[in-house]
Amino acid sequence: MVIVLKPKVSEQEREHIIKFIKDVGLTPHVLLGEERTVIAVIGDERVLQKQPLAALPGVEKALPILSPYKLVSRDFKKEDTVIDVGGIQIGGKHIVVMAGPCSVENKDLLTSIASQIKKGGASILRGGAFKPRSSPYSFQGLGEEGLEYLSEARRLTGLPVITEVLDPRDMPLMAKHADILQIGARNMQNFRLLAEVGAQDKPVMLKRGLSATIKELLLSAEYILAAGNAKVILCERGIRTFETATRNTLDLSAIPVLRKRSHLPIIIDPSHAVGHTDLIPAMAKAAIAAGADGLMIEVHSKPEEAFCDGDQAMLPKDFNQLMGELRKIATAVGRTL
Ligand code: PEP
Ligand code: MN
Repeated sequence: MVIVLKPKVSEQEREHIIKFIKDVGLTPHVLLGEERTVIAVIGDERVLQKQPLAALPGVEKALPILSPYKLVSRDFKKEDTVIDVGGIQIGGKHIVVMAGPCSVENKDLLTSIASQIKKGGASILRGGAFKPRSSPYSFQGLGEEGLEYLSEARRLTGLPVITEVLDPRDMPLMAKHADILQIGARNMQNFRLLAEVGAQDKPVMLKRGLSATIKELLLSAEYILAAGNAKVILCERGIRTFETATRNTLDLSAIPVLRKRSHLPIIIDPSHAVGHTDLIPAMAKAAIAAGADGLMIEVHSKPEEAFCDGDQAMLPKDFNQLMGELRKIATAVGRTL
């Protein structure tokens, strides 16, 4: 349930309401707005049948949240969430593009790709140090060494870094090197990992699972918010369907659906969705036209030699050309890039 407080509620009344909620065994999540304070009340609300919240001084109204997810819901928070990463706003007017190789392979290659995508207008560097590979015999990533190269690339270019966390035991390392933690599609329902990233304060980008519904994506995001971290970015990266012409099927309709149901920023990853470089530009343009807040695109200067996902890695020059085309679409929909 969401309770909306009166515009002129006193601090004492607000504290009394919060204490009341805790005393009956429920958890309050307070959202201090410019005009109003709203509190999401999480837990078994049957205890409120005898002691209704609406009767407390300072409460204007109590509204049920009908969806199974609460804190991620638009019913709880009407305004779009904007997440600041080193001065870059994700979820605001500016379209944020995250680009870089699938995996970090070596220092020189990474810094060279980073400086080229920066010239094209990308604002965040991506690169996996811990790779979730389908086969145990495929390259699993450079691990800590890869994270160090990402830190070095950030130092040289100023680009914040997003990288995937596979295991809660790697959190101390991640805290040292990453600006945004990525939860990959294969871990979308790894609930212990979600709770772990929810218990720290770096922004988290949560990728939709290979066969997950939008409701399941939002419920996974709810785990992170419920654990205390409200800086969550949602990412659609293609889902498994019967179609084999593309690696996955990009669910573009997820953009307006997520926009309607949640206040969290939405990023589209056309690279993992289509799996082939020649198909990426059309999907990237469509994503911006449909209202995405940003894109994640794989870029590699020697795709034929890439340790993974070479088929979907754009050359820096092609990426930079695409950025020019995307800028026109962004302008047409009232955004900047
Ligand atoms: C990635 O972005 O590096 C990745 C592995 O993507 P996904 O989890 O979407 O497959
Ligand atoms: Mn990849």
